[in-house]
Amino acid sequence: MVNFKVNIDKLYSMMDKCNICPKKCGVNRNRGQQGLCKTADKIFVASINVHTGEEPPISAKCGSGTIFFSNCTLNCVFCQNYPISQLGNGKEISLESLVDSILNLQKRGVHNINFVTPTHYSAQIAKAVHTAKKKDLVCLLFTIVVVRKMLKH
Ligand code: SF4
Repeated sequence: MVNFKVNIDKLYSMMDKCNICPKKCGVNRNRGQQGLCKTADKIFVASINVHTGEEPPISAKCGSGTIFFSNCTLNCVFCQNYPISQLGNGKEISLESLVDSILNLQKRGVHNINFVTPTHYSAQIAKAVHTAKKKDLVCLLFTIVVVRKMLKH
């Protein structure tokens, strides 16, 4: 059986010398330092909405409960969400507010909760989902991430 509490603690401790993603910046995000993703311990989101424009199997009839996180672990020049992923557009929200947002999206009848560019927030999202689950979260969860093979030159 998965011990969520242990895994959440592990994710937070990974931010002491951050190796949450393959960039392995080694900064102490729990003390406010930022790595290449320009993100420390606080949560920043650009939008929280019912999204009906995702791929049809995801949005379906009632929409996808989409949370766009600010910044990104990648630096794609042609990112379609450039202002959010590279310029960091968004505002700070608390963990409690993230939990409430997840549950509010569920109340609005969405088919799923959709975390967009979530990698650098893995610890915070795991904690928020764990808390939301205790408060009745039953929605399907998924993330939109870009997976890239790390090439050795
Ligand atoms: S999550 Fe951010 S700080 Fe951590 S290793 Fe990746 S880019 Fe660096």
